[in-house]
Amino acid sequence: MRLAVAEATSLRPEALEILQAEIKSRGLDNDIVNSVNAQLIDTGSKEFDDYISLIRNQPCPACNSTHQPLNAAVIGTVKSFILLTRYKKKLMIACPTCLQQANQSGTSTTALLGWWGLPWGIIRSTQALISNIKTAKKIKSTEPTDTLIAFVKTNIGIIESLRKNKQSLQAMLDSVNKR
Ligand SMILES: [Zn+2]
Repeated sequence: MRLAVAEATSLRPEALEILQAEIKSRGLDNDIVNSVNAQLIDTGSKEFDDYISLIRNQPCPACNSTHQPLNAAVIGTVKSFILLTRYKKKLMIACPTCLQQANQSGTSTTALLGWWGLPWGIIRSTQALISNIKTAKKIKSTEPTDTLIAFVKTNIGIIESLRKNKQSLQAMLDSVNKR
């Protein structure tokens, strides 16, 4: 079942056919068949856009607001201490307001704590600050970001299996932000 829900796209076409036949012969839940099929949808298609809209129309996992469509961004934060430098790239799915706040917070932390390592503190801090500036621009756009599209593509099987359960969808988005 895990294979069907999460990893169908990594299977060769022959293996996928066997998986689909196996699901049918075992009389497993229709939801799993849907989940496998969802993973075969092209990113440019209308069907794929429906999954994007489904995620964008959820309440914000960070502030619960339903006023703005959700988006996704990768936010960089660098912290250094002499020889140690840690560059954290965090995926966040939330409303644009919460994404901007998190992005600003990552930027401020990096500006304060990122530089104090040699040489990686300076290198990584520069990378993170440039990346966060680009991210801030993307969040301002009303279009889904590449990060959101990639997230939906990777998790479309799971999204399909949770589609009818708003609470589970919300829990999934929440768990992404807590990673
Ligand atoms: Zn929010």
